[in-house]
Amino acid sequence: MASSSSSPRSITILGSTGSIGCSTIDLVERTPDDFIVEALTAYSNVDLLAEQAIKLKARLAVIGDEKLYSRLKDALSGTEIEAQAGRQAVIEAAQRPAEWVMAAIVGAAGLEPTLAAIRRGGTVALANKECLVCAGELVMAEVAASGATLLPVDSEHNAIFQVFDFERRDGIENIILTASGGPFRTFTLDQMASVTPEQAVAHPNWDMGAKISVDSATMMNKGLEIIEARYLFDIEPDRIQVLVHPQSVIHSCVSYVDGSVLAQMGAPDMRTPIAFTLAWPQRMQTPVARLDLASLAQLTFEAPDIERFPSLRLVFEALKTGGGASTILNAANEVAVAAFLAGQIGFLDIARTVEKALELVPNRQLLELSDVHEIDALARECANAQISPPGGADRAVSG
Ligand code: NAD
Ligand code: MG
Repeated sequence: MASSSSSPRSITILGSTGSIGCSTIDLVERTPDDFIVEALTAYSNVDLLAEQAIKLKARLAVIGDEKLYSRLKDALSGTEIEAQAGRQAVIEAAQRPAEWVMAAIVGAAGLEPTLAAIRRGGTVALANKECLVCAGELVMAEVAASGATLLPVDSEHNAIFQVFDFERRDGIENIILTASGGPFRTFTLDQMASVTPEQAVAHPNWDMGAKISVDSATMMNKGLEIIEARYLFDIEPDRIQVLVHPQSVIHSCVSYVDGSVLAQMGAPDMRTPIAFTLAWPQRMQTPVARLDLASLAQLTFEAPDIERFPSLRLVFEALKTGGGASTILNAANEVAVAAFLAGQIGFLDIARTVEKALELVPNRQLLELSDVHEIDALARECANAQISPPGGADRAVSG
């Protein structure tokens, strides 16, 4: 790679066809001799997966949806690339011997593949924040047990990682997660009630997958990031602050007991944090636009508005409740976001669905992975019942 390491690095990308996956591939293909691609996985975009696998001479390509196996096999015929399909095959891909694994599947569906990569004990670049949200303690226990190196890809957590004094934690006062505020930062609740999925996925600064774009619009993304930070940096929730910063130039900060505040800055382009993890502990060249502060001229900041963005309140409540509350929040949110994107519920119904699930789903301690799966399934059932209640109105969550 463009760092000082001499031999090619073997890598696997879980979720290679998504926004993070494609940004990772964009970096890898600039210096292909520096990498050996062990495995690429995707859920349904079989054509792009095959194209990526051929371009990067991957050893294995896995499509999550088993029905697409023959299409993948056909697309890879005449190559040396092995084709596999199904959920178990994605997990097995994560277990293959790669020095570096990008965990970029979206949602709790990424939990088991990410855990499989962690258990191998290599370097895991973590984009899939939902796996820490739904099973943070269990995931971090696996990191400790396997000795894996977990490097945050999420831009805020990557920023914090770069300015966090791990050797002298006593000096750290708070962490400050910056948030763009999303496309509806200045909207009234009335205006938000009628926004469309197209408006919600059009993020002002970042080009991302549909689910995280909607999460940014509700600010649930920042909520999920609070939980992610709580586990990644082993820091109490009351020491995590959120600061709205619409330009997305300061990616987050750590404040110290002497009054110092250290921040990491850069253009809003995920290739910077991805490159940080790909070259770690070295640095590598990226084509990312360089920050031009003089032309930006001004950076602005404001406090988050919890009235208009109740997701933040729900997250702090879930963290206070503990046990499986974050698992419930995450699962209900995934169902509600999918329903909003499908035009089944309104934008404000997303947080209502999550709040109801937190109220109705019986919570308990997460002692093992099966507890996570059970609570996750109950929360999805509860959220689905609110979206399309049996024999009820089709917009039951509204009002
Ligand atoms: P995306 O929707 O663009 O891509 C998701 C990838 O996961 C795709 O390759 C898809 O095929 C795969 N996938 C989806 N469901 C799957 C399943 N059931 N089994 C196996 N694979 C499956 O999402 P994204 O925007 O790239 O985000 C990926 C993760 O990274 C999310 O957790 C997100 O929160 C996080 N993240 C993304 C960004 C960003 O800029 N896009 C920034 C920070 C964090
Ligand atoms: Mg982020």
